[in-house]
This record gives sequence, C-alpha cells and structure tokens, in this order.
Amino acid sequence: MTEQKRKPEKLTGVKGMNDILPQDAALWDFFETTVKSMLRSYGYQNIRTPIVEHTQLFTRGIGEVTDIVEKEMYSFTDALNGENLTMRPENTAAVVRASIEHNMLYDGPKRLWYIGPMFRHERPQRGRYRQFHQVGVEALGFAGPDADAEIILMCQRLWDDLGLTGIKLEINSLGLAEERAAHRVELIKYLEQHVDLLDEDGKRRLYTNPLRVLDTKNPALQDMADKAPKLIDFLGEASLAHFEGLQRILKSNNIPFKINPRLVRGLDYYNLTVFEWVTDKLGAQGTVAAGGRYDPLIEQLGGKPTAACGWAMGIERILELLKEENLVPEAEGCDVYVVHQGDAAREQAFIVSERLRDTGLDVILHCSADGQSASFKSQMKRADASGAAFAVVLGEDEVAQGVAGVKALRGNAAEARSEQQTVAFEDLTEYLINAMVASAEDGED
Ligand code: ATP
Ligand code: MG
Repeated sequence: MTEQKRKPEKLTGVKGMNDILPQDAALWDFFETTVKSMLRSYGYQNIRTPIVEHTQLFTRGIGEVTDIVEKEMYSFTDALNGENLTMRPENTAAVVRASIEHNMLYDGPKRLWYIGPMFRHERPQRGRYRQFHQVGVEALGFAGPDADAEIILMCQRLWDDLGLTGIKLEINSLGLAEERAAHRVELIKYLEQHVDLLDEDGKRRLYTNPLRVLDTKNPALQDMADKAPKLIDFLGEASLAHFEGLQRILKSNNIPFKINPRLVRGLDYYNLTVFEWVTDKLGAQGTVAAGGRYDPLIEQLGGKPTAACGWAMGIERILELLKEENLVPEAEGCDVYVVHQGDAAREQAFIVSERLRDTGLDVILHCSADGQSASFKSQMKRADASGAAFAVVLGEDEVAQGVAGVKALRGNAAEARSEQQTVAFEDLTEYLINAMVASAEDGED
C-alpha cells in the first residue's frame, strides 16, 4: 500500500486573541501617534513593565474578590522553577510595583503612562477579548483633586484630538475606607432583604464585596440596585470636599459630567474619585476608559504611603468607535516602487533604491515571487497596487545610458504626466523629491 500524503492541518490563533492585520495598521498608527502626543503635552513619561508578573502582585493589588482575580487571570506555574506567574490582566499594579522597586517615588511625584497588551480569560464578544490593549496613565504622589481633574481633562483632549464625540463622563466618589465600612453595614442589611433577587454572583458577593453587587449588569437587578443605600450619603467632610473640588475644576473647564452613585469599579484598590467614559455607540461594551484614585495601593504593595490616581483605556473599543464614525485615516503607500529587468539593471536597482532611502524616501524594490525576472507590464501592475506615488524604471537600455525612467502613479501628477520621464541617475533623488513636493501641493488645492 502506498502511503497517502496528507496535507498538514491548518493552525489557528487562540480564541479571543486577535491578529492585527496590515489593513488596520494605519488606524492603530493614528491612535498611537495621537495618544502619545497628548501624553507628551501633559508631561507624562513612558514606563514599560513585563507582560508576566508574580501572581501575588495581582491577588494583593487587585483584590481576591474581583472578576479579574476570581476567574479571568491567565496564571501558570513556571515549569522550570515552580514560580506562580500571571500574564498581566491590567497594568496599574505592575507600574506601582516597578515604581517601588526602583525607588522612583523618593524624589517627588511621577506622571507615568504605558501602552500594551493585557490578558483576561473572558467570554469573547464584541469589545471583549482575551488579549486586548490598553493605554493608561498613573499619576503617583498627588493627593489633591487637581490630579484627578488633570487625568480626566487628558481623556477629553484625546477625544477631541481623535475627532470623537459623544463619549460621556460619569463620576462618583467611593470615599475613605471607614466611610465605606459604615455604608457596607447598611448595604448588607438592604441586600439581605432582597436576597431572593440576587443572582449567583450577587449571593456570593453579598458578604465579601457587597459594593460590587450594585455594579451588576443583570437587568433584573437594576431597580433593586438603584434603590440601595448610596455610598455618597456616608461620605465625611474631607471626602466631600475632594469630590466637590474635582467637580469645580471640571465645570470651569467645560467638561460635562454625570454623577453616577452606582459607579464602583471592579478593582478593589480604588478610593475617593472613580470615573468612566462611556458611549452608547458600541452596544453592551460601552466603557472606553475607566479610572480613579487608589491612594491605599502603594502602601499595600510595600511602598511608603503615596497618593495616586490613574485611568486605563481599551484601545480596541476606541478603534471600533473611530471606524463607526468614519474617522479611519487613509493608508499611505510608499513614495517609490523600483522596477527593473536584466542582471545589470537589478544590480543598479539596489544601488538606486538605497540612495533614495538615504534621502528619506520610502522605496519598494521589486522582487519576483518565483525568483525569475518578471515582465515590465506585470511589475508595473505591482507598482500600481502598492500605492506608491512614483515608479522608477530600469532596463538594460536605461542602465547603459546612466538614466532611469520615472512615471507618476497617483494623483494630479499621474494625470498630467502619464508619460514616462527620463532622468539621469545623478539627478534622480532631486527630481523625485521635487516631484513629491509638487504633487503634495497639488493635493492641497
Ligand atoms: P468591563 O466592565 O467592561 O469588564 P472593566 O471594569 O473590567 O471593564 P477595566 O479593568 O477598568 O475594565 O479596564 C479599562 C478599560 O479596558 C475598559 O473600560 C475597557 O475599555 C477595556 N477592557 C477591559 N476589559 C477588556 C476586554 N476583555 N477586552 C477589550 N477591552 C477591555
Ligand atoms: Mg471586566
């Protein structure tokens, strides 16, 4: 019997972890460039921490009774040394860990930002993935409401810079630990009266994290949650003053907001200010950014007591909004595509391409799929499809004469001069740069 040759099975990516394909590159670029320029305009500095941390950082930092720690973490034991490790589900705990570890908080406050992938084992759906990306800021060492206001203003500026409208701000205050403790007693009493209504999560959290019961998305619980004792009624003078201070700055900067007494946030480390930026254009996953103050965290992770606040933004959800609102920038092609035929021309094409790149032009040098020399016609098709502004043509004759053919491929320049121009090698870079400038000016008319 002859052995049948089987085609190897196709492999697929991990569920909920997406490939970001070249067709979306311009969109990601636009977002990243815009957000980085906004962050720079507020004097924030970039910090990059590893993807993997000790599991303990998150159990201690985020809180045991949270969605993330209870059921969403990608945790594993390092097979080589037995350490318990976790792929970061969020980055605040890691930034704080790094700030403590590198004594960054001894010479005054720090304004930090990060960007990168986060990992949570959630049920994948629109706007909810297992690997997703966040950009975030952490303002470490600032106790007053001015820091809360600053990080909120940053978000508004970003929406403006991106051209996004209709993202609404909701704020709340979680007060101080002792105020939450007094509220908790009343809240548990209230929830006990409604225990029959509670879903499985709610019953489990009644005594461990009752505040989170109010953060439910279960429609059957909305009315009960709306009527529950409100934390804001338990706040003391200092907490109220902080909250009012924030509102004053928001108002004087014309940032509209709504106070949402049920906004509690899913992470344990928050106190005083919490906020979310929400849109109704994305269906159920409408929160695009969320944050607040987390004064207790730094001491909790072994640092000296330091006030802090920050936010994290879900990049996929914002890109989805940009698509929804037709704010996707057009992808830009290369400046030049070099086509060539014959050994001598290929050799020259390499040299010409490198010389063009030296001057800052972006150049694609034709390379055939099968290793054979393709016809000029098929190479020109590639040049057109590449989106390049100009084709540079090198054949045996051109190389022998020390010249190149230049053909405009796009825009007004292409219509006006569809004929191929002949340009001497030594004039080629200057010719192309002038032509690029001229066609950019045409485009502005
Ligand atoms: P949600 O209530 O939607 O689960 P969360 O409270 O868990 O959000 P945070 O931990 O505050 O979210 O993260 C900040 C932001 O990161 C969210 O507002 C959202 O935009 C984004 N985000 C969170 N989880 C995911 C996910 N699984 N996929 C895509 N984006 C996410
Ligand atoms: Mg979540």
